[in-house]
Amino acid sequence: MLDLKRNDNNGKKVISIIGTTGVGKSQLSIELAKRINGEIINADSMQMYKGLDQITNKHPIEERENIPHHVMNHVNWDEQYYIHRFQKECNAAMEDCWNRGKIPIIVGGTHYYLQSTLFNNKTIGSNEEFVKKEEDDGNTRSKMTEEQLKIIDSDDNELIFEKLKEIDPIIANKFHPNDYRRIKRALEVSFVRGVKASTIYEEQRKESLNSGTSLKYDTLFFWIYSEMEELDQRLDERVDKMMLNGGVKELIDLYKFYLEEKRRGNESVEKMDVGIWQVIGFKEFLPYLEKNGTNDLLDINNIVNLEERDEAIRKLINEDKEFSKCCDEMKLKTRRYARKQVKWIRNLLGPELQEEENNGFVKFGKIFVLDATDLTKWGQRVGERGVNITNEFLSKGYVNDNCAELAAIPTTLCHIDNLIKKNDTSSLNKVENWTHHECEVCRDRETNKPIVYVGEQWDIHLKSKKHRFNLNRGKRKREYEEWLKKSKKEIIE
Ligand SMILES: [Zn+2]
Repeated sequence: MLDLKRNDNNGKKVISIIGTTGVGKSQLSIELAKRINGEIINADSMQMYKGLDQITNKHPIEERENIPHHVMNHVNWDEQYYIHRFQKECNAAMEDCWNRGKIPIIVGGTHYYLQSTLFNNKTIGSNEEFVKKEEDDGNTRSKMTEEQLKIIDSDDNELIFEKLKEIDPIIANKFHPNDYRRIKRALEVSFVRGVKASTIYEEQRKESLNSGTSLKYDTLFFWIYSEMEELDQRLDERVDKMMLNGGVKELIDLYKFYLEEKRRGNESVEKMDVGIWQVIGFKEFLPYLEKNGTNDLLDINNIVNLEERDEAIRKLINEDKEFSKCCDEMKLKTRRYARKQVKWIRNLLGPELQEEENNGFVKFGKIFVLDATDLTKWGQRVGERGVNITNEFLSKGYVNDNCAELAAIPTTLCHIDNLIKKNDTSSLNKVENWTHHECEVCRDRETNKPIVYVGEQWDIHLKSKKHRFNLNRGKRKREYEEWLKKSKKEIIE
C-alpha cells in the first residue's frame, strides 16, 4: 500500500522535526543532515536571540559538525521576534537550500511558528498580514473613508462589533464579542480590501479543498517522543548542566541588560511576556538576583580552576536555598512547557495531518513518532529509524508502511492511547459552526449578563464543571425557594 499517490509538485521537499524541549531534536537533525545532504533551519523562537546558548538551549557548535544552521542567533535582545518575521526568514532559508540542492530540515519547539509556515493559512490571518503590510507601507488609512476611519479610531468596542455584524455577520459570529482585537482587524480587512473577510476566508478554504492539501511543500514530520517520567528527569538534569556550562554567566549578562531596560522604563520588562523575557530560565531567577545581586555569581564565574568552579556552582545549586528554589521553579516551568508542547502536537497538528491522510497524502504530510524514552536505544529507535524513513521519503516520495519498522507509531509506544489525536477538530474552521450561544445559567460576575460562547466552545462549556456547578446551584436555589414558600404557607395555614 502506498502512502503517497503522486509526487509531482515541483520537488520541494522539507523535513520537520518536532517534539518537546530537551528530547533530542537537534541531535537527530544533525544525524539526518549528514546523511541526506541537509541543512538546518531553527524554529525555536528563543534561539533566534543572540547568545544565551545555555539558557535558550542551543545545540553546542562543536556538536553541529559543520552543518549550517539558519534563522538562529541573529536577533538583538531589545528586539521582539514575531511570527511573520519567522515565516519570511524560514521561507527564504528553504528556498536558499533548495536552490543549492540541499534538503531543509526545520527543527524547533515553537510549533505554531512551524504550522503557520508549512501550511497554507486557513484563517483570516493572511488578511491580517495584508493589513499589517499595508500599514507598514502607510496605505491602510488612505484606503478608508473618513467615516470608516472614525469607527476604527473610535475605540468603541461595541460600535466596532455592531458595524462588523452589519457588514459581515458571518465573520462576526466567528469571534467572541470580547475578542476586540480580532473583531477590529476583521473590520479593517473589510474596509481596506473592500471585500468581506468571510468571502476571502471562504475562497481560501475552497482553494485548499480543490488542491486536496493544506501543505505548501512535500513534508515529512518526525515527532521525537519520550514518556513523561523519563523526560522529566532529563529536563531536571538539564537545569544543573546549564549552570555548569555557562548559564551562570548568562544570568549575570541578562540581569545587567534587564536593569538597563528597567532604567530606560521599557514596559516589556515589567510584564516579562514579550521578546527575550519569555525565555524559561531567567525570570525564574529574578527572586535570587533582585535580593542578592550578581556579586556572588560573578565571584563563582571568575574562579579559574574549572574543578573548583564546578564545585562552587554545585554548592550554589544545592545549598543556597534561594538559588535552589529558583532552579526548582525553572524545572517546574520546563515540565509544564513540555506538556503544553505535547498537547499542541496531539490536538492541533494531529487533526491537521489527519486531513492530509483523508485526502490521500497529496503532499505527503505524514508524521512518524520516534521513541526517545530510553536513550540507550537512541541509535536504533531514533537515529536509524529516522534515516530509513527519510531515505524512503526522499527516494520514492512515499513510505511503504507495510513494513512494521516504518509504521507511524512504533510498537514501543503502542500502549499510549491517542498519541496523535485523530478526530476532526477542523470543525472550528467550518462556517456552519460559527454561532454564538448565551448561557443563561452562567453569568458574568461584573455585568450579570449571560456569558457568550462561540462555536464548539458551547458544547465544551455545557459539559464543563463550571456550568454543571452553576446549573446545580440554580436548581438548589429554586428548590430552596420552593421549600421556603411551602413552609411559609404551612405556617400560615
Ligand atoms: Zn453555563
